[in-house]
Parts: sequence; C-alpha cells; structure tokens
Amino acid sequence: MSDIKIACPKCEWEPSATDLWVCTCDHRWNTFDTAARCPNCNKQWKDTQCLACHKYAPHLDWYRGLDEALRKELAAIILREKVNID
Ligand SMILES: [Zn+2]
Ligand SMILES: [Zn+2]
Repeated sequence: MSDIKIACPKCEWEPSATDLWVCTCDHRWNTFDTAARCPNCNKQWKDTQCLACHKYAPHLDWYRGLDEALRKELAAIILREKVNID
C-alpha cells in the first residue's frame, strides 16, 4: 500500500507513522496501522479525527489513490468488525 496517500479530507494534513490517536479506553496507537480499530479494546472507529484541524471524517475518506477493489475490501473489514463489536 506504499502508493496510497493518507491525508485529512478537510485540511489535507498528512499523518506520519509517529502520530498517535487516543481511544476511549486511553490506549494510544496509530489508527492507520489497524484500519481504525483500537488494538487494546477492539473498538472499531468509523470516523477518524484529524490531529491538525480536529474535525472528524469517515476513516475511508482519508485514503487517497485507493482503487475501488481495495476501497471495498477496506470498507468490508471496517463494517464487519463494527458489527461484531456493536
Ligand atoms: Zn480502545
Ligand atoms: Zn484536518
């Protein structure tokens, strides 16, 4: 997935590997490593908050240059895990 760019849909901020998100369980991790699922409590985040502009956007909207097949695959992963958790 090296040719896929990740950027905030609202302000174009590009997260790096060292940026961390905080879950409601207080765990900190890079949300793009796990398709927005907390590795500690398994919460699946549908929206991802930008660390620059602090706005929320659907996790999938952050991925640029994602082809349709890959986008559907990622959506299926997020939806399936969300169903399991809720
Ligand atoms: Zn968590
Ligand atoms: Zn932003």
